[in-house]
Amino acid sequence: MKALVKQEKDRGLVLKEVPVPEIGPRDVLVKVKKTAICGTDTHIYKWDRWAQKNVPVPMVIGHEFMGHVEKVGSDVKGIKVGERVSAEGHLTCGHCRSCREGVRHLCPNTKGIGVHTPGCFAEYLSVPEENIFKLPPHISDEISAILDPFGNAVHTALSCDIPGEDVLITGAGPIGIMSAAIAKFAGARSVVVTDPNPKRLERAKKLGATRCVNIREEKIKDVVEELSIWDGFSVGLEMSGHPDGLNDLLKSARPGAKIALLGILPQTTLIDWDLVIFKMLTIKGIYGREIFSTWHKMSNMVYGGLKVDDVITHRFPYQDFEEAFETMISGDSGKIILEW
Ligand code: NAD
Ligand code: ZN
Repeated sequence: MKALVKQEKDRGLVLKEVPVPEIGPRDVLVKVKKTAICGTDTHIYKWDRWAQKNVPVPMVIGHEFMGHVEKVGSDVKGIKVGERVSAEGHLTCGHCRSCREGVRHLCPNTKGIGVHTPGCFAEYLSVPEENIFKLPPHISDEISAILDPFGNAVHTALSCDIPGEDVLITGAGPIGIMSAAIAKFAGARSVVVTDPNPKRLERAKKLGATRCVNIREEKIKDVVEELSIWDGFSVGLEMSGHPDGLNDLLKSARPGAKIALLGILPQTTLIDWDLVIFKMLTIKGIYGREIFSTWHKMSNMVYGGLKVDDVITHRFPYQDFEEAFETMISGDSGKIILEW
């Protein structure tokens, strides 16, 4: 089969012929139809410090996908050939306390599809049955291919008490703007999104942000007055991975606010602890999705009318992967689909 492989410890990927994965008794072989490029894939493409530390080579990469079941292992009970599926990309151990208590997203032994085990940028992918998510018919193929980052946004936003509250989101990347749509759908009074990139802010507006703030041109403080937000935002979602994004949330938070951190901040990030302590803020870290409650909530919200389709800005056949990756790296795109 054809696959995109991290072959060398250097920038780029190669499109090459590799064997179709073997499946074990509890695995499912998926014929991949649509995939999407994640920030993680661009780290691997660029071969930055994180990728060098975490990704063994050679490796077929990619973890955002949808497709159809081609074959099932002998012990697979709940999934049939031909079914339309996606999958949770975090493989959990099944033995630790978290896994045994049914909170798999807290498993300390999590491995990533397309990072530690062969991924979905290929014609076929093997996934353990317990990670498969059967796609309901109301979710389009393209949205099915981005349920992983969409789920990051759902997990982060729904960790906070949104209805009737003012929500500040720092970072208008794909996950930030989907979070804006979710917060609005969940009944926020207002959703303010910040970013230095005007194109990205335009897309945030399209997805439902009440007000966008270009941090190079405007102050959050002024917008707070404009929207009559009296003593700050009750909810903050950090989606930039930039220390200033976090500090803006802390400064703009209302006493007692809850702040959820999805963006991956540098280890050297400094914050003013007085803001956390004297405003009695709650800060929660977010990793991945709750397995599978986030998936079901997300699916049900789409059924109920939540729309994030405009987060997808480009589509490429897999053969044009280089152009797709360079477009993603340029920072001007939303989600990019690779068709198989
Ligand atoms: P992205 O890199 O596409 O978007 C980040 C955005 O933040 C960009 O638009 C950038 O212009 C903006 N930004 C930079 N500095 C800013 C600042 N000071 N204030 C406001 N905005 C600023 O990322 P994404 O794919 O949308 O993901 C969001 C973040 O979540 C990234 O940091 C990513 O690494 C992280 N992530 C975490 C998990 C997890 O499980 N914790 C999963 C996926 C992604
Ligand atoms: Zn575990």
